[in-house]
Amino acid sequence: QAKEAGRNTLRFFDPVIQQRVREQSELEADLRRGLRDGQFSLRYQAQFDREGRAVGAEALVRWRHPFKGMVPPADFIPLAESSGLILPLGRWVMRAACRELKAWQLHDATRGLTMAVNVSARQFRHSDFVAEVEAVLHETGAPPSLLKLEITESLLLEDADEVIARMRCLRQLGVSFAIDDFGTGYSSLAYLKRLPLSQLKIDRSFVRDVLTDSNDAAIARTVIGLGRSLGLQVVGEGVETAEQHAFLLSHGCDAFQGFLLGKPVPDLRDALLARTLPAGTTASVLS
Ligand code: C2E
Ligand code: MG
Ligand code: MG
Ligand code: MG
Repeated sequence: QAKEAGRNTLRFFDPVIQQRVREQSELEADLRRGLRDGQFSLRYQAQFDREGRAVGAEALVRWRHPFKGMVPPADFIPLAESSGLILPLGRWVMRAACRELKAWQLHDATRGLTMAVNVSARQFRHSDFVAEVEAVLHETGAPPSLLKLEITESLLLEDADEVIARMRCLRQLGVSFAIDDFGTGYSSLAYLKRLPLSQLKIDRSFVRDVLTDSNDAAIARTVIGLGRSLGLQVVGEGVETAEQHAFLLSHGCDAFQGFLLGKPVPDLRDALLARTLPAGTTASVLS
């Protein structure tokens, strides 16, 4: 195959690429082992509404590598995608998140919160995806109406009709959708209107400089306005300062996620209980 030959040619002749290919294939083997040996876990980052009430959380995968320690998703998700390991990893994430979502229903602090799960394009396009989500919901007993899938605009670049059909199937199960990192991709407004979406998430890169960069401020306001006119909730992500929060709030943003309000944590219930308790009290006093 021409593609295979092309890759081998690069591998053979360019030492820099050769080195990089070696590192990548080691990391790929590590990923495979990591999946087998249970080195992955989830963190949950809460999302809050305009009144400051927790309304949901996003599940974020973490990998504890035996020698390298915590490897951030940015360093392994792309490789998981290109190698196809995102399929078993994505299945693991979906199952773990749905199990947790089910457990949340047992406690006042977490009952009714939505669980957002990141789904990569390759995972979503896999022919078994809908059936797998359905099976996981069934097996875990998680309420489908509280499961939200975060997809990105890149998903819509190819076979939009197929993607939309698949989204509708999931929507019928009760699952909802958010577009992640909105504004960084190439969404066509015509598609946006056809998608069964409930949320747009303003990318963190626009929130970061919203007070100092008038272009970013304009983008943030535009996304909020667009969301409003399409009847979608808009979530601001990467909110780190009270000023960013105030800006988004004053322009009509519906929900907020970021270090200012809460970091990703292993136990959301503990984090939410600690948040509402008076200073000096610990959550364990109440449980
Ligand atoms: P994302 O889905 O846009 O997730 C938000 C990222 O922003 C997370 O990074 C989160 O920790 C970080 N973040 C949240 N609040 C703040 C803040 O106030 N300031 C800053 N500087 N960062 C903040 P994380 O966990 O490193 O994940 C990075 C990306 O990796 C995610 O971006 C998502 O695209 C991907 N990812 C994470 N978990 C999964 C997963 O289970 N499956 C897939 N396919 N992708 C995942
Ligand atoms: Mg996300
Ligand atoms: Mg995002
Ligand atoms: Mg992102």
